[in-house]
Amino acid sequence: MEKMNRRGLLQAAGVMAAGAVAGCALPVVAAVDERRVRTPFEVAQTTVPIVGSTEQFPVRRIYCIGRNYAAHAREMGSDPTREPPFFFQKPSDAVQYVAPDQTTDHPYPSLTKNYHYEIELVAAISKGGRNIPLDQALQHVFGYTIGLDMTRRDLQREMGEQKKPWEIGKSFDRSAPMGPIHPVAQIGHFTKGSIWLKVNGQVKQNADLQQMIWSVAEQISKLSEAFELMPGDLIYSGTPENVGPVVRGDVMEGHIDRLPNLSVKVV
Ligand code: MN
Repeated sequence: MEKMNRRGLLQAAGVMAAGAVAGCALPVVAAVDERRVRTPFEVAQTTVPIVGSTEQFPVRRIYCIGRNYAAHAREMGSDPTREPPFFFQKPSDAVQYVAPDQTTDHPYPSLTKNYHYEIELVAAISKGGRNIPLDQALQHVFGYTIGLDMTRRDLQREMGEQKKPWEIGKSFDRSAPMGPIHPVAQIGHFTKGSIWLKVNGQVKQNADLQQMIWSVAEQISKLSEAFELMPGDLIYSGTPENVGPVVRGDVMEGHIDRLPNLSVKVV
């Protein structure tokens, strides 16, 4: 306690000195400063707009489930019936916000010659927990959106073959385009409904959310055994079969029933 007080006084003194130079209202500035950790530079907090609100959803971690549709698991070379769920992460600043009423440019990333789309339902968590029981899991969901788990497939495969981490194939800058978050209070939960992706108007992926091997509730429950979930976490719930490549100039349009479509142009 004494240490905190001394530190607070020192900080206040520093601010007062700076304030005196700038001619600020000293007591107010000092009070605000004491509540903040001082850092030599600012790091941006990733946020995603919330539909119907002036507030934005602050992103903490992005979890993604792998091979969560049987036909996609098969096309990736595994047996879906015997595999427990597995998860990987993208950094929070991999988010690229895509407004629902327009086509947003999405830069083709470096290093790849095989850049793949994966259309997915994304759940946004507002209540954390460990070992969350299945029947309570959906109470942890704040809302949902539609997202792309963009993948440098050649790099992912290369690393997999060498038994090295996937990171470079999955967790790169802007690898997580997504729309605004729709609160559960307005939109409800998603256990079924059409999910599809078109490229240049042609249907590429087309399935139903019911075909997920692990439901969103099951994913939350399983994830929380491995990690303590926290408010701000996002969960990409997996992609259906028929993933494939895009090149510069391609327009991807993603759809999940009850959500506005997501549209991005690869540039
Ligand atoms: Mn995926």
